[in-house]
Amino acid sequence: MASRTLEARFERMSVNDENGESRMYQKSKVTTTTTQLSHSTSRPGLFKVALQSQNANTVSATVTLPSQAAQRKALPSSQPVPQSPARKEKEKATASSSRSSDELAVAERKSDSYVDQPLTPKLFHLGMFEIGRPLGKGKFGRVYLARERNSNFICALKVLYKSELQHGSGVEKQVRREIEIQSNLRHPNILKLYGHFHDSKRIFLILEFAGKGELYKHLRKENRFPEWKAAQYIAQMASALRYLHRKHVIHRDIKPENILMGIHGEIKISDFGWSVHAPKNRRATLCGTLDYLPPEMIRSGSKDNYYNEKVDLWSLGVLTYEFLVGEAPFYEEHAPLTQRRIARADMTIPEWVSKEAKDLIRKLLVLDPEDRLPLEEVQTHPWIIKHCVKGGDRAVKATK
Ligand code: AMP
Repeated sequence: MASRTLEARFERMSVNDENGESRMYQKSKVTTTTTQLSHSTSRPGLFKVALQSQNANTVSATVTLPSQAAQRKALPSSQPVPQSPARKEKEKATASSSRSSDELAVAERKSDSYVDQPLTPKLFHLGMFEIGRPLGKGKFGRVYLARERNSNFICALKVLYKSELQHGSGVEKQVRREIEIQSNLRHPNILKLYGHFHDSKRIFLILEFAGKGELYKHLRKENRFPEWKAAQYIAQMASALRYLHRKHVIHRDIKPENILMGIHGEIKISDFGWSVHAPKNRRATLCGTLDYLPPEMIRSGSKDNYYNEKVDLWSLGVLTYEFLVGEAPFYEEHAPLTQRRIARADMTIPEWVSKEAKDLIRKLLVLDPEDRLPLEEVQTHPWIIKHCVKGGDRAVKATK
């Protein structure tokens, strides 16, 4: 019964026009204390997941969501996807041989060449996808590498279980809203949502495949990033956030765990709300991501406060600090202490951080939201200029 209700709601879902709305979307902050996640990304190779065998129960092949008309609109055109010679080659090869794990691995490596050639708009259903290795696991579902059989388009398929969404209060609404928001976003540093479909039990999100996985893992591995790399990441973040803010979208949950990396090491902001991911780190056990919260959001009674897009500037400052230092600026073992330090913007930047980087951090981690450095000035800040071809937009290429 509950499942039917959710299904009905998804069928009614409409996609808002990205330009027509002046409403400011705010991402609902979801904090979590769970630590039981087990990432399965270590599992090598391709395997045929049980998803395919569940096709018998699938209603999606016959269900036409009204929102799919909007998906057609959101994708560039209803014309055939332009085919590169390499792609034609690959299709020929695919037709003449049975699919193997090697093949998917090759396709995976080449997937970046399809980045600008999204799936031909159509009514999606599970049978259209070949499912590959698991990419990761979030609180409400799993993400798999997938290939659209017709076009060979490589993507990530996120599977959310409706029954699980219903257990988290407000999660279902959050999923719906975030699909509406993310499917309207087109920026090289924002993970694309190409489309979605559902069956009786699950919701499937067709996402851009981020070939290098989580930025967080890279940061933990390297401990901290060299300044040139950090500057290029921050430039890309600034470019993406500027785009979001122009679209009246506040991310509100900027942190390394919510950033994926494309095949060239470029930033892909992800997690526009539905993924209540509990990474295996200190933040998870300390009830969410307090470290990245701006002072205006942690003040007592702040639940009813009005936040504006300047919250993302604060988080960008925290991110810059963490990239360069290896830990968040207000880190304390106990949450109330972190909170107190955030409320006072009480931080020390190690002296080995460059003068320019210190300057940028200090201009972003400012208590009064209105006094934080605007994004266009982040993009032209001397630290960014020093390390990037051009603040933000061309920095994407510079990371290759
Ligand atoms: P999420 O439920 O969105 O937190 O995803 C769980 C994990 O799956 C992430 O932490 C990533 O490791 C992986 N993942 C999610 N989306 C993608 C994607 N589009 N490309 C590659 N890996 C992904």
